[in-house]
Amino acid sequence: MLLGPSGAGKSTLINALAGRDLQETGEVRAGDGKGRHTTTSRELVPLGGGAVLMDTPGVRGFGLFDAEEGMEEMFGDLEGLFARCRFADCSHQAEPGCAVQEALADESLDARRWRSYLKLQREQAALNRKHDAAARRAYQREWHQKVMSADRGQRAAERHRHDQAEERAAKGGKRRKR
Ligand SMILES: [Zn+2]
Repeated sequence: MLLGPSGAGKSTLINALAGRDLQETGEVRAGDGKGRHTTTSRELVPLGGGAVLMDTPGVRGFGLFDAEEGMEEMFGDLEGLFARCRFADCSHQAEPGCAVQEALADESLDARRWRSYLKLQREQAALNRKHDAAARRAYQREWHQKVMSADRGQRAAERHRHDQAEERAAKGGKRRKR
């Protein structure tokens, strides 16, 4: 069973699992993160070996970071491939000595699977950006509140020091005018 918000890449995962395009998927729109394709009803997807996958409509508020775990499980072997690239920061596009391009060329890596991976990466990057922006706003709000309360605390401390100084002045017999 796959649960995840709209655009989390459920359909892309299903296609990758099934090894064929069962569902149309769309790019996640930058603005609102909504995928063009949304699963509108529960769908049962038969996979090989008698397994059946249940795809549910996007569930609001359900962590999308199961998708990240799913990525690791599905594409963990690609990490080993990346490690064999000549350059550590290889983008696996056209760099010389790219193990991914070599694996695609000798078909030890399925081109469709590689495209699914890239697509999921993009979708997740878009979702992460969206989440980062929300986290940044929350952080700024919190920071603002801290500054405000620190300011209040400082003014209270100044008032206190001022009162103490007045007290000392009064004890010394020299009354200070406010
Ligand atoms: Zn590479």
